[in-house]
Amino acid sequence: MKIDNSTSSTWQQMDAAHHLAPFTDYAEIREHGARVITHADGHYIYDGDGNMILDAMAGLWCVNVGYGQQSLVDAATEQMRILPYYNNFFKTTNQPVAALSQRLAEITPDGLNNVFYANSGSEANDTIIRMVRHFWALEGKPAKRKIIGRTYGYHGSTVMAASMGGMVDMHRQAADQPDFEHIRPPYAFLYQGNSDEAEFAAHSASLLEDKIVEVGADNVAAFIAEPIQGAGGVIIPPAGYFDHIQAICKRHDILFIADEVITGFGRTGHWFASQAMGLAPDMMTLAKGLTSGYVPMSAVMVGDRVAQRLIADGGEFYHGFTYSGHPVASAVALANLDLIEELGLVTRVRDETGPYLASALARLADHPIVGEVRSYGMLGAIELVKSKDGPTLFEDVGKAGALCRDHAIAHGMMMRAVRDGMIMSPPLTFTTQDIDKMVDIVTLALDKTAADLG
Ligand code: PLP
Repeated sequence: MKIDNSTSSTWQQMDAAHHLAPFTDYAEIREHGARVITHADGHYIYDGDGNMILDAMAGLWCVNVGYGQQSLVDAATEQMRILPYYNNFFKTTNQPVAALSQRLAEITPDGLNNVFYANSGSEANDTIIRMVRHFWALEGKPAKRKIIGRTYGYHGSTVMAASMGGMVDMHRQAADQPDFEHIRPPYAFLYQGNSDEAEFAAHSASLLEDKIVEVGADNVAAFIAEPIQGAGGVIIPPAGYFDHIQAICKRHDILFIADEVITGFGRTGHWFASQAMGLAPDMMTLAKGLTSGYVPMSAVMVGDRVAQRLIADGGEFYHGFTYSGHPVASAVALANLDLIEELGLVTRVRDETGPYLASALARLADHPIVGEVRSYGMLGAIELVKSKDGPTLFEDVGKAGALCRDHAIAHGMMMRAVRDGMIMSPPLTFTTQDIDKMVDIVTLALDKTAADLG
């Protein structure tokens, strides 16, 4: 079908009549229509009404190298010509996926030398659930099935991944599988109170040990955590938190899984947050920045302990997807990794743009409706509050956040609201000028939101 230059409303009507979009209120979209994104270039997306919008979310936290990167387009085109598809089932592979596997083993933390591919973060996490249960069964401990996650954790939308995540609204919509437990995350803004950082870190981690004791270590397969909780609101752990967590997992012989779907591929100023925070996970989930979102692909990095057991005793693992290790996705991932290296994005975020973003956001801390700003690499959050005393949160949770987000979009910038937290996760190619522009629009949006709220 040819995409012509019809106005947005033509497409909106067509879309609203048939498209059940993800995380969308269907009634609302049928009434008002969706925003139609027509194209993108660099750091901007363009809609069907002629608006040019600075994308401070990198799509959905994924377009790490920005839009319009020709080398990724070329890699896809070339691979489609050579081998557009073949599966990896039944002792078959392809060249790009073999090369990508070696590359991922090199850049991920030591010991993660094995990789299973899927198409989305959700599928990768579903794979992890099956793998860890299979692993413990092979170890002669089939009762170790429970997986502990965290409130506000997000691990995807399949029934299992959403049950493992800690989003209660999702649990209420038939994502309430048994054998998943959740603990409170180290969300300092809400829970730190008067304790100091070290106490808060130790106390937050002790909740894991309490949960393990409550359900019995013999029943627990794994603990899963995003090193920085993204969709939950960019919740950055206090120093030392994961040292305690890892010690607790070791003490009770529980696998530790790092979901790096958002934090991977340079976003934290390191290839992976695990390296920044000294984590040695048994398994790691990757997606999003793996291909910068240009094509779907995800991966499970599997540590040697688990992999060796599966290899030695597992026999055939009855699990896989038609597109696991897709040659075109693998070729795009390789081109994406090359580009991240060529442009020096990891060190740029660590040494230049990450610190610049932190200081630019810090200037907003005095704004009358800002309770806290925080950032890590190219992840940022601003907590809106009714009053700085306390601070006092808004009673009508989400209203101020939505207002502020809508003002930002109206002024040409895409940002996200999580409850009343404003979230930014721009492409890693953002320059300091882009950050200045982003913070100027955020400031405007904050002023307008404060005025709206009276
Ligand atoms: N894990 C994390 C940390 C995520 O942020 C997401 C998506 O936002 C997922 C898993 C699920 O990935 P997908 O939407 O590709 O299924």
